[in-house]
Amino acid sequence: MPGIDALPPLRQVIADHGLSARKSLGQNFLLDLNLTAKIARQAGDLSGCDVLEVGPGPGGLTRGLLAEGARRVLAVEKDTRCLPALSEIAGAYPGRLQVVNADALDLDARALLTPPIRIVANLPYNVGTELLIRWLTPPEWPPFWDSLTLMFQREVAERIVAVPGRKAYGRLAILAQWRCHARIVMDLPPQAFIPAPKVHSSVVHLTRRDSPLAPADPAMLERVTRAAFGQRRKMLRASLKGLSPRIEEILQDAGIEPTARAETVSIEGFCALARALA
Ligand code: SAM
Repeated sequence: MPGIDALPPLRQVIADHGLSARKSLGQNFLLDLNLTAKIARQAGDLSGCDVLEVGPGPGGLTRGLLAEGARRVLAVEKDTRCLPALSEIAGAYPGRLQVVNADALDLDARALLTPPIRIVANLPYNVGTELLIRWLTPPEWPPFWDSLTLMFQREVAERIVAVPGRKAYGRLAILAQWRCHARIVMDLPPQAFIPAPKVHSSVVHLTRRDSPLAPADPAMLERVTRAAFGQRRKMLRASLKGLSPRIEEILQDAGIEPTARAETVSIEGFCALARALA
């Protein structure tokens, strides 16, 4: 099968540039360019979009995004060792790849991007959840991006898409699904990466809702879910009693049984509770 581009295979790129993977940077590289192109396709039609990629590493997913037609890719990489490999890709796709050497947690990339914007990344495990939460919790909605297509450890992916009644259902599911549609679109075995991690991985695709699933003040929703899932085995009248002396009555006003447990309450239920408490 012909390659997705005329650049060298990733194994050679890694050898040529001495890119031995560093655990401290969450480095598990994808070497199969057909696989990275497939991940890029999960983000939809990229031809009219700017793509923000966090952690391009040796550039496997970056090449997938460009080969699949992304209008422009802004790639933010912390590891300076990867920069020469990434500039070779920039040379092969003139004007379409900008690489920024920065910590994604410190960089506000919005000024460097033109809407519509999609975020696609094989995230470093050590900062993946933190970045997701930041992208999901801006003060204003809709956010600067249209969709997120992100690789996580499977266990984290399951927490993002979990529905009420499941063990994985909790604050991450509520944060994600209150403001987005979220689904797992690909599963990858450990052997897809070099070095192979201990666990399976999944790609989650989130598209923003124009407006949240139900009205609620984000700060109050955050307080309620933190308290409810902080003691998820307790009945809500116990886990939430610190929020109001009238909590039983407020739960009933919100249509929730005071003896219910957090994991059985829908996102709309938590929103009703946040409104009743506000
Ligand atoms: N995208 C590449 C791939 O799919 O093969 C590499 C993915 S690897 C899981 C994560 C990448 O994120 C590494 O290249 C690592 O150096 C980079 N990285 C780690 N922490 C980062 C941070 N805080 N900001 C930006 N990049 C980071």
